[in-house]
Amino acid sequence: MVRLFGEIDLSMVRCRACIKCKSYLVIHPNNPINQVALKTFERNHSGHTIMTVDLNEVKGIYTPLSNNGKVNHSEESS
Ligand SMILES: [Zn+2]
Repeated sequence: MVRLFGEIDLSMVRCRACIKCKSYLVIHPNNPINQVALKTFERNHSGHTIMTVDLNEVKGIYTPLSNNGKVNHSEESS
């Protein structure tokens, strides 16, 4: 059960993904905390290749990061 995205069509969700690290951060356009997290993500991966992609392109392949920038290995149980 994926309650995080329960109200959102997955095909509409965009992510910032680092190709080098195989990690991504979901973009929440109206969430100011997320805006800061995205800036942190881009700073952490400066010099890497960062792309904006659909969530369904990276989900299950890349490592999701929570909004505080830590790796979230337990997204299904949190
Ligand atoms: Zn990276």
